[in-house]
Amino acid sequence: MQKYIDQLNEAQREPVLHKDGPMIIIAGAGSGKTRVLTIRIAYLMSQGVDAFNILALTFTNKAAREMKNRIAGIVGSAEAKHLWMGTFHSVFARILRAEADKLGYPSNFTIYDTQDSVRLISAIIKEMQLDKDVYKPKQVYGRISSYKNSLITVKAYFNNPELVEADAMSKKPRLGEIYQHYVDRCFKAGAMDFDDLLLKTNELLARFPDVLSKYQNRFRYILVDEYQDTNHSQYLIVRALSDRFQNICVVGDDAQSIYAFRGANINNILNFQKDYDGVKTYRLEQNYRSTRNIVEAANTIIDKNKTKLDKVVWTANDDGPKIKVHRSITDAEEGRFVAGEIWEQKMNRQMNNGQFAILYRTNAQSRAMEDALRKRDIPYRIYGGLSFYQRKEIKDVLCYLRLVINPKDEEALVRVINYPARGIGDTTVEKITIAANHYKRSMFEVMENIDKIDLKLNAGTRNKLTDFVNMIKSFQIIEKQHDAFYITDHVAKKTGLVQELKKDATPEGIQRIENIEELLNGIKDFTEGQKEVDGARGALAEFLEDVALATDLDKDTGDDDRVALMTIHLAKGLEFPYVFVVGMEEDLFPSAMSMNTRSELEEERRLFYVALTRAEHQAYLTYAQSRYRWGKLTDSDPSRFINEIDGQFLEYLTAEESNYRYKPMIDADIFGDVDKSKLRTVKPTAGTPPKWLTDNEPKPTANIRKLKPVASNGSSGGNSNLFDDKLTVGSVVMHERFGKGEIINLEGAGADKKAEIRFEVGGIKKLLLRFAKLDVI
Ligand code: ATP
Ligand code: MG
Repeated sequence: MQKYIDQLNEAQREPVLHKDGPMIIIAGAGSGKTRVLTIRIAYLMSQGVDAFNILALTFTNKAAREMKNRIAGIVGSAEAKHLWMGTFHSVFARILRAEADKLGYPSNFTIYDTQDSVRLISAIIKEMQLDKDVYKPKQVYGRISSYKNSLITVKAYFNNPELVEADAMSKKPRLGEIYQHYVDRCFKAGAMDFDDLLLKTNELLARFPDVLSKYQNRFRYILVDEYQDTNHSQYLIVRALSDRFQNICVVGDDAQSIYAFRGANINNILNFQKDYDGVKTYRLEQNYRSTRNIVEAANTIIDKNKTKLDKVVWTANDDGPKIKVHRSITDAEEGRFVAGEIWEQKMNRQMNNGQFAILYRTNAQSRAMEDALRKRDIPYRIYGGLSFYQRKEIKDVLCYLRLVINPKDEEALVRVINYPARGIGDTTVEKITIAANHYKRSMFEVMENIDKIDLKLNAGTRNKLTDFVNMIKSFQIIEKQHDAFYITDHVAKKTGLVQELKKDATPEGIQRIENIEELLNGIKDFTEGQKEVDGARGALAEFLEDVALATDLDKDTGDDDRVALMTIHLAKGLEFPYVFVVGMEEDLFPSAMSMNTRSELEEERRLFYVALTRAEHQAYLTYAQSRYRWGKLTDSDPSRFINEIDGQFLEYLTAEESNYRYKPMIDADIFGDVDKSKLRTVKPTAGTPPKWLTDNEPKPTANIRKLKPVASNGSSGGNSNLFDDKLTVGSVVMHERFGKGEIINLEGAGADKKAEIRFEVGGIKKLLLRFAKLDVI
């Protein structure tokens, strides 16, 4: 343990060794907040605190897993296993399951994802015969979500004339009724939506003092990362649970608060001192992540915000290269620049794909980037798009499985009752819905009793419904005796889903079958893993729990090597050697929708601060003079944020220069005489591991790997000295990655000396000798 404490600086060591009582660490990006939190947990354990008594809440489940692995490395995995770690949603879903009966829910309650919720709201709007252009389902969902996160229940809503009035004024007088129906329907279906996981936890802790006391005693130490982005509902849970022992440690950076639009409340961090007695505040000032240029440039940005805590961030790291600013005419050209730059850096510096990230303000911007990366066969991965589990074919399987566990789950039922087609039409489903609402029973219960209720259905339809009910019941029997893999395989075949997909022989159809196979593989992994743990049987319910809260960020196992594409919001807490912040244009970033008030603009600026501070070594800011937005070609000005950075940290790449540098690569056959079919094994979508250039290439390991510092004068970090005299045109060399080749041209001098080499496989490449790993043979 001591070894890990010694690796910290003085300011970091203090909060790690902090004795009991409330504490807060407020510090800028990259200063080691997450690291301190991690080491503190290990330290507490080394001091005899039982893992069972520690609760750590993180922004993503992936972050929790990484933290746990780190801790396991220090204190041993047998110990770390019992730590409670995860997002608010996943931790409290677990607690809610254990206590569900108190709230009148079954312990096997379903978790509705956003798709389910929006569909249900849309059905309610239709049933109420409201205009869906006025009551837009997604908007209504957003509104209900924000009520729930502010702990405004239906009852509280109707007791608050201001809210009722506000909705009436915005031409939605019946919003409260929709809210009421939505809550009733979820309850009847034995389902909670994402926001319920927090709202119901609050309800549980408030209504049942014995339950509160049980968890207060259990979680003697509570630690929260990214505290600046907690919402009111989360805040209250933490308050309640920590009330007894007051061993609460929160970590955050007000300058990185970027979720206000989703209800995050920056005051949670600003008021922390007032909420607890005797709070000890710690500050970290040294940034370990980024070069000095990046740290100081980021400081100049955040200085422009008025609402902020005073903080100092400095670094002892090298100056590093300046932040590169690139202008292009169109977004397509912007994409080509980014892909070209990645390609070149990879060639010249032997970088992995996973060391590059492309960050954007809106998901729509990924397309131009994807096109350009695909053209260069650079494998990439988009985060935050449709998660694997939300793809249609996967969700169909999952909905059958959900029904097996919880037959009351109406969203699942509606989705699969007639898929694959079994002659149960919309009218029949509508009649069942109406009956279910009337009898206050679930649709499945209505179907179970279909012969006893007069729904004016013919005998044929009634039989079909009974067959469906019996099929689900037969699955339930099998499920009780087998693991998640067995039942999923059985369901996929017996429902006819696989046969249905096999009818479609298009590449998309084949891809869908492959996705189902991938799902099965994932479940196999899960069941095997579960069985290793204390003899569990790898039950389906547990798998579904995992899936309900999985995001595609969680699915990233880190063992494949791809360029990461994501919105800035998602990049919080992460770091990459090379970061491209693209679409740096007015009205896009800052977003046109966030320029009405100073506080909105300040949130955009914080977002920019987050983006820039993800970069360890090199940051790029790129913008296009015109791009397609909403189907129209729109002209744009460069983002004001570029101008807000002190010019000394920027290097402008002129359009002429970039054309010169990148154009030949776009059109020319960059792979020379290599067999291209071999190169196209890279699949930019999920699935196979990437194979860079040749099949023999060893698989890159770490996804996000630290870059070795590269001295800008070329005196170290490469092996230039080796080449200055030995190499001539005609020399035969061996390259670590490209194999054998012959030098056909040499140009430049010193640090800029380049060799053009014709490789036996891979064609002609121009390599900067400073970085190329060559042996003369
Ligand atoms: P963010 O605000 O972006 O969440 P953070 O404050 O949580 O950042 P970390 O992610 O914990 O910062 O640390 C940033 C980087 O600096 C990590 O790569 C971490 O390993 C490294 N680091 C932190 N402290 C030290 C240290 N004392 N010595 C060496 N490296 C360190
Ligand atoms: Mg962090």
